Amino acid sequence: MAMTARERILQIAKRFERHYRRLQWASHGDPLDILILTILSQNTNDQNRDRAYESLKKRFSTYESIVRAPTERVAEAIRVGGLHQQKARRIQEVLRRIKEERGGYTLSYLKDLSTEEAVRELLKFDGVGKKTAGVVLTFSLNKPYFPVDTHIDRITHRLGLVKKIEDPHDVMNKLVPDRLKYQLHLHLIWHGRQTCKARKPLCDRCVIADLCPYPKKT
Ligand code: SF4
Repeated sequence: MAMTARERILQIAKRFERHYRRLQWASHGDPLDILILTILSQNTNDQNRDRAYESLKKRFSTYESIVRAPTERVAEAIRVGGLHQQKARRIQEVLRRIKEERGGYTLSYLKDLSTEEAVRELLKFDGVGKKTAGVVLTFSLNKPYFPVDTHIDRITHRLGLVKKIEDPHDVMNKLVPDRLKYQLHLHLIWHGRQTCKARKPLCDRCVIADLCPYPKKT
């Protein structure tokens, strides 16, 4: 009998754990810092994201000073990451709103909310989608939400786990057990970078090839 999607995910997670390694959750930083970093990561690579973030931190020592600065100056500081005007506006707007609603620059109140409530809170901000919200929750607050980035989107479609018309976040968050969300997210990204590459996936050396319909289709 054919495996269900859930069974296949469990198998994939097991193979990856053997092939890559078991990961222990560790905080990647303060939730608001992670949110800003993730906004900066939109449409660019990790290196330029980090350079933009460093440059922003260097020019503005507090969140208050980012909010008070002319958008042009904020955009100039993050130019290296691309889409700098749009990102500068978004960052200022997010910070302004958090201060207005919470009385300070903090997202730590999210800790006390359920995962669903915390996702809803983050989605209220302009320019914050499910991926960005998921990164904040998973990497900063250890809440079980599975963010789908470009690598994971590609692989899950090739694996036939997500159909074109479906929302990958909704599908994957139902399919992946909470205890595996953090580790499988990272393993899939590594797999996308090293093996299941965008242009030429290396199916002949893939550790989950027997669980994937893609090589047979191509
Ligand atoms: S078999 Fe090929 S398409 Fe499927 S996951 Fe592996 S590398 Fe990607």
